[in-house]
Amino acid sequence: MNIGIVGLGLIGGSLGLDLRTLGHRVLGVSRQVQTCERAIVRGAVDEASVDLRLMQQAEVVFLCTPLGVMEATVKDLVPHLAATTVLTDVGSVKGWVMRTIAPHWSNFVGGHPMAGTAESGIEAAKPNLFVNCPYVLTPTAETPAVAVQQVEALIRPLRVRLVHCQPEEHDQAVAWISHLPVMISASLLAACQNESDSKVLNLAKALASSGFRDTSRVGGGNPELGMMMAQYNTEALVRSLHAYRDTLAQFISQIEQQDWEALHTTLLQTQQFRPTFIKD
Ligand code: NAP
Repeated sequence: MNIGIVGLGLIGGSLGLDLRTLGHRVLGVSRQVQTCERAIVRGAVDEASVDLRLMQQAEVVFLCTPLGVMEATVKDLVPHLAATTVLTDVGSVKGWVMRTIAPHWSNFVGGHPMAGTAESGIEAAKPNLFVNCPYVLTPTAETPAVAVQQVEALIRPLRVRLVHCQPEEHDQAVAWISHLPVMISASLLAACQNESDSKVLNLAKALASSGFRDTSRVGGGNPELGMMMAQYNTEALVRSLHAYRDTLAQFISQIEQQDWEALHTTLLQTQQFRPTFIKD
């Protein structure tokens, strides 16, 4: 099958590497000539160009640009697509994509492969990135069933865990497990930074170890990622932040009132709850 990929970075490049291994012909479009050249050298694409006309031959196109340029890209792209082409995206937020991008193409399927690394760009692309990871599809009542089946047939051999849900359910779920943790972790760092006693602050820096490494990691990462979450998943993130603030207030109250029994019950419940999310 002729597959198109627009945006040859970590996700687009990794998809290209795997889809070529599976025998597909992969055509790539990216913003920079240098990226196109590197994508060919790295084996992520068979052909690459900065010109969206290359997508004329594609039967399925994966939109893998950052969210911030997706709408402009899709507007430029659709005049070059054959009427039967299926367009799918990999954006980390789905409500915004289904409201803003999907209306530009009737054969559109919203998608989110939930895999990644801390790096970005074509050099970060790697084979088997998606193995055993969830790949969420968010078809709506308007999404043609045949288009969903075509995308599924392409991504299932990547050995992903296929998940179907509503765009809003996806966004609230990722707010809890990804976007809220970034804001909590960043606010932890910001609160530490505000310590007015410089001697204490320096001592804390000298004593920081594995616990602080774990809890500060996602908040101390690329600011652009946090901005993307806040700007494109505002409603779900704000809802989670308010719920978190209320929960934090309960913790503060239990500790201030020295209600150790209540605090112990809460900590017992969180200890039992964690393995239902993640196993060490
Ligand atoms: P990335 O590594 O920065 O790659 C994005 C690529 O898009 C860049 O290499 C850039 O190529 C290209 N690009 C930028 N503007 C473009 C334009 N106007 N036209 C064509 N190509 C353009 O980012 P990524 O991590 O792969 O993320 C891409 C998408 O995947 C985002 O929508 C993100 O939400 C989603 N996603 C990311 C992750 C993750 O963990 N990173 C996980 C799941 C989904 P040039 O080098 O040519 O400028």
